[in-house]
Amino acid sequence: MEAAQKICLGEVDRAFAFIGAGGHHAGRNFFGGYCCFNDVAIAVDHLRKSYGTHRFAILDTDAHHGDGTRDIFQGDPDVLHVCICGMNYVSPDGTKVDVPVPWGGRDPDESYLKIAEAAFASRVRAFRPDLTIWYFGFDGHQGDYGDMGLSLRAFVGLADFMVAAAREASGGRLLTVLGGGSRTDLATLIIPQVIHRLANG
Ligand SMILES: [Zn+2]
Ligand SMILES: [Zn+2]
Repeated sequence: MEAAQKICLGEVDRAFAFIGAGGHHAGRNFFGGYCCFNDVAIAVDHLRKSYGTHRFAILDTDAHHGDGTRDIFQGDPDVLHVCICGMNYVSPDGTKVDVPVPWGGRDPDESYLKIAEAAFASRVRAFRPDLTIWYFGFDGHQGDYGDMGLSLRAFVGLADFMVAAAREASGGRLLTVLGGGSRTDLATLIIPQVIHRLANG
């Protein structure tokens, strides 16, 4: 909430919320997958009530479907929620999207980045949110519990992509919230590099 607030007040353009527990599986009246509180939804609610910030675009690149976030914002036309989870769905109004991911291939990082860009870039540009939010899980890294065959390159590429997308769509305002990922060796490898790209992009 504090990170989102600082962006809304214009104190910073980008912030990284280092949250140890997940959030995107917590819905209106349920929780699961180690998610008790939906951090992104709480931040959105707070910004709407306190700052009148209304439109939000969320890209969820955790390996799993963001069922809690989807539940909370279902039917809310002012939240674009694009979730790269392996399912294939677009809501009638186009603001809720699930994207299939081909597993493996010759270059999983490259194909994942292409899919993320194809799913999010034009949608967020047209949507023009007040704030862009990246729900960043690294559980899709090789050997973690959501293994999608990805490596560091995919996450660094996503960070660069999100900086560029936020610059075009929401005046540079980008909130990154840490999602799933369990291995400390991967966390210490990936997270500092992602923060570095977000800070210098
Ligand atoms: Zn996950
Ligand atoms: Zn999904």
